Amino acid sequence: MSPTLLFGKSFQNYKSEVTNLLNHKDVQPPILLILSGPSGVGKDAVLSRMRDLEEPYHFTVTTTTRTKRNGETDGKDYIFVSQAEFRAQMEQDGFLEWAEVYGNYYGVPRNQVKTALKKGKDVIVKIDVQGAKTIKSLAPNALYIFLAPPSMDQLEKRLKERMTESPDSLKIRFETAAEEMKSAGWFDHVVINHENQLDLAVAEIQNVVKIARLKQMETPNFEII
Ligand code: 5GP
Repeated sequence: MSPTLLFGKSFQNYKSEVTNLLNHKDVQPPILLILSGPSGVGKDAVLSRMRDLEEPYHFTVTTTTRTKRNGETDGKDYIFVSQAEFRAQMEQDGFLEWAEVYGNYYGVPRNQVKTALKKGKDVIVKIDVQGAKTIKSLAPNALYIFLAPPSMDQLEKRLKERMTESPDSLKIRFETAAEEMKSAGWFDHVVINHENQLDLAVAEIQNVVKIARLKQMETPNFEII
């Protein structure tokens, strides 16, 4: 049987309809994707690759009081602010979530998320595990992805290779990571970031998002925050 008969229209049309359905955003609420996982697992690398692929997300830029690392750009990697500025925004309820992580403050700017979602744009928030839990209480139906290392040895190696931490900070991050790994179970999906396989992790995230879009057609989405 020819594909034309099978689908009652040309196969090409059918294919493009399915593609539209999987990628369609006009008729669907946007996806709020919470990407979490231990420090050093490669969340930034994944996001950077997704940006390079020009994925049509709003990539939320977190506000932080930590000092800028070499190679980081203010407004792109983080919005770097003083403790006083952070406190002022906190008092104005400017953060969807904020937390002290390794002695520095980090906050997800509420306006960025709200504005993008209202425009119907998909949003990605990169956050640590405790922050993901806080967001879960606000938006239980958002999509929660835990990025995991292939092994704890690999994670330790990556943290050491990154050479951004003092030995003490490295030790704390590693101990925290071991604790955070125990939380992987409550996420919707766990994606393993294998060594030199960044594209594979990104492809898996893209597939998870496609499935979430289909599910979202059946179940109402989260309230826009
Ligand atoms: P780093 O200083 O290495 O960039 O980030 C340290 C940790 O803070 C990472 O695990 C990162 O996911 C987390 N983090 C980044 N932004 C936020 C945020 O807005 N809220 C919370 N709770 N954690 C964040």
